[in-house]
Amino acid sequence: MDRRSFLKSAAVLSTASTLPPLAPAVLAAEGEPARVRKYNVLGKTGLKMSDISFGAGKLPSASMILRAVDRGINYFDTAPDYGQSEKLIGEALSRHKGRDKMYLASKFCRAVPYQDGISHLYPGATKAEYIASVEESLKRMNTDYLDVVFVHALGEKPEYEAQKQRLTDPEMLAAVADLKKAGKVRALAVSSHGAHNMETLALDAVQTGHYDILMLAFNFLTFPKVPEVLKAAHAKGVGIIAMKTLAGAKDSGVKPEGATPFPHAAFKWVLQHPEVSGLVVTIKTTDELDLYLQASGQAFAAADQRALDHYAALFGSDYCRTGCGTCQSACPAGVEIGAILRHHMYFADYGDEKRAMQEYAGLERNAAVCETCADNDACNAACPYGLTVGEKLRAAHRTLSWDAPVAKG
Ligand code: SF4
Ligand code: SF4
Repeated sequence: MDRRSFLKSAAVLSTASTLPPLAPAVLAAEGEPARVRKYNVLGKTGLKMSDISFGAGKLPSASMILRAVDRGINYFDTAPDYGQSEKLIGEALSRHKGRDKMYLASKFCRAVPYQDGISHLYPGATKAEYIASVEESLKRMNTDYLDVVFVHALGEKPEYEAQKQRLTDPEMLAAVADLKKAGKVRALAVSSHGAHNMETLALDAVQTGHYDILMLAFNFLTFPKVPEVLKAAHAKGVGIIAMKTLAGAKDSGVKPEGATPFPHAAFKWVLQHPEVSGLVVTIKTTDELDLYLQASGQAFAAADQRALDHYAALFGSDYCRTGCGTCQSACPAGVEIGAILRHHMYFADYGDEKRAMQEYAGLERNAAVCETCADNDACNAACPYGLTVGEKLRAAHRTLSWDAPVAKG
């Protein structure tokens, strides 16, 4: 889509209905690569995104983007602080004039961590800095507009009011107004993967009326208030994208007889919610691309539930539920439990070691105090999912601290 068509694209759709798929609505024939089979309208933006979409946080090469486009993926999520991701997308665009086949989403963010290990722009940044963030993304990606720009990682710090203020920062909103007017940004979005007040902040975002899209952590392992958020967002035409759908991504590939592969089951579970237009999953290899796309356009079935039950039995008492926070009040020391366990997951399960350590270093209340817990691991009893929280926090501290002794085992 060129700038002119983009500016003319004023179709505002109030529901996330399913459009006719661009690819055949049947499984790819034996030997043929899997491809996207379903596209859904993303709320009032009118964007029609692939149900399985591309998280470019660990993008290995420009050619991976081109492969994904060939398979029908049209929505790509990146950020200035995702390593070389934006540059590689730019390389893909310059090699293959495929901008009209892609929706590009990036973040209000600096390319390098700032102050306390966080790269995202916060209130205090000027309108000019918000605009510069987008301009630099455009330059790196070799394009002249973003389809979506995010206020990213809402709830990454515990102070609720300060996080809520990010939603209505007048400098940010003024920048968005200018960027939209100039045709450089199409939609404003907000994302949250916890660890603090995710659902409450998401509802706040919907109520501001400023946001076109919400991207939330959402998977089959307990998000009791997310359905309420989905309904509120849907009622206002706010499009919903799911992330963190693999619930920790601990799958070993072993599955019980008659069960579908775990990623397919996890994706289908999320996508069966009619308010969810699509999901973003990190894709690093062609094998992952092949595997994940097999779930596109498929209905959730009994074999999927078997796969989820198996995963929950294996890992349910190991996975800290995004945005849960139930145990937080049990710790008199105020240790940032959810955030620490999330950073540890990034390190141990996602292979995102450097970033996990940088962000851990930026926490105000890390798990150093857990090494000599004066409260007899009170957090353990407060976790309804049976996590041995204190033990996990001590292990996380040893793993994530630059100066802590190396964790054994
Ligand atoms: S181990 Fe102790 S200090 Fe650490 S979070 Fe639990 S209660 Fe708090
Ligand atoms: S440790 Fe348990 S109670 Fe605490 S945030 Fe994680 S899942 Fe919730």
